[in-house]
Amino acid sequence: MSPGRVSNITFDEFYNIIDGKQKGASKNYNGVNPATKEKLWDVPVATKDDVNTAVEAGQKAFKTWSKTPIEKRKQMMKDWVKVYEQHEKEFADTLCKETGKPRSFATSEVAMVKGMILHHSDLDIPEEKFEDDEKIVTTRYQPLGVVGAISPWNFPLLLAVGKIAQALLAGCVVISKPSPFTPYTVLKLVETAQEIFPPGVVQVLGGGDDLGPALVEHPGVAKISFTGSIATGKKIMESCAKTLKRVTLELGGNDPCIIFPDVDIEKTVPEVAVGSFWNSGQVCVATKRVYIHESIYREFVDKLVAFTKNNLKVGTSDEENVMLGPIQNEMQFNKVKEFFADSKKNGYKFALGDAEVAASKGFFIQPTIIDNPPNDSLIIREEPFGPILPVQPWSDLEEVIARANNTDTGLGASVWTKDVKKGEEVAQRIESGNVFVNSWVKPVPQAFFSGHKTSGLGGEWGNTGVLAYCNAQAVHVYK
Ligand code: NAD
Repeated sequence: MSPGRVSNITFDEFYNIIDGKQKGASKNYNGVNPATKEKLWDVPVATKDDVNTAVEAGQKAFKTWSKTPIEKRKQMMKDWVKVYEQHEKEFADTLCKETGKPRSFATSEVAMVKGMILHHSDLDIPEEKFEDDEKIVTTRYQPLGVVGAISPWNFPLLLAVGKIAQALLAGCVVISKPSPFTPYTVLKLVETAQEIFPPGVVQVLGGGDDLGPALVEHPGVAKISFTGSIATGKKIMESCAKTLKRVTLELGGNDPCIIFPDVDIEKTVPEVAVGSFWNSGQVCVATKRVYIHESIYREFVDKLVAFTKNNLKVGTSDEENVMLGPIQNEMQFNKVKEFFADSKKNGYKFALGDAEVAASKGFFIQPTIIDNPPNDSLIIREEPFGPILPVQPWSDLEEVIARANNTDTGLGASVWTKDVKKGEEVAQRIESGNVFVNSWVKPVPQAFFSGHKTSGLGGEWGNTGVLAYCNAQAVHVYK
């Protein structure tokens, strides 16, 4: 590939990108379209040698890229958006196939990629100065080096580019590693970047289960930015300790939602339903526990059931009015089914849906609401990452705040009340990194995104997330 060959990017052949070039492999693997269970295109399995070559190419590219003036780097990021834009339709088509999500949601994820790059292309890296009679102290933030950016399958494009954009702004080079369940759009995203950035600045490797560990263990990688499950996050942190690599972890959550008695029920019900079930619940910050004031509990639950049943249609990407696609992969489908089986076994009340997940052509599950399961139930304690939602009543504010916080995760949360001041007070008492008042959790690139407790370590985005890609250096100059 060389600059100007944008039109040559095709979406029916997929390669790793190492040192500016397409790279195949002797072994291939395939993703599966979760709506049809059909095999998708071949993808080369990157080897340990590929990891070594990519890290070497990254280290070489870093020497120049880190010295490239930030204004030039920012301009190149803007130029990249122009290349990417030419392929938006193909990105949306491919995203529909690899994730099964409804086309409108795929299209909006494709558009959000631009927003993420452009947000970072307008930021500056801060510099702090302190002066007294004898000295001037300047703290500068310098790029770390080669970043390994490991991302999951629920928002393949958005979560990958969120890391790539920050690394580029900081002056780091980056090796992206998509989930083996959804490699396609990320491989192509990085291919588009080759039209703009020098070889080795943005690379991508797709592969099997041993690829992530190989990248994390590599001594030439300066930082790992990881989004995925808590279990994998713990393994990554353990492995990073061996080389004292910098690490940012964006992990799972079990987001509570507290509904006050004063809400406008008609307006709030659709919002809570969408916040819980969008992307079929496969969202780290989806609402996962709903606490409704007892005085409106029955009416709210009945309306939540009716709205979900009538408006959140499950189907394939291009069916009309579809709001929810399939579960993205079989492993996750089976995991979600365990929450159904456990709820059935324990005799919990299914306000919507039933315990049987019908066999179908794809990994589809109808949205399901469990009415008032006990606090120690699996569905309250753990993140299903699928469309099954528990609801419970509350009467005492202190008690419900304690219930909301009774989890070792702390990613997102929402509080719904007409009393905005009260809502904000309660929001500040929720032990989560991202709390919303009168909205479901909608992260934006402009806000720092992080998890408390086991939901993560450090954070990214906002105006200061880029600092996670930098070493600080304080230079003390005595006059
Ligand atoms: P996962 O942890 O199984 O995999 C995530 C990525 O890590 C994949 O690319 C995978 O190949 C790679 N990986 C797996 N084992 C590895 C290892 N030992 N070393 C290095 N890399 C390894 O997670 P998933 O199932 O893809 O994603 C779902 C989870 O991600 C959910 O728990 C969800 O809440 C969480 N998530 C969090 C956020 C957030 O921003 N906090 C966003 C989306 C998803």
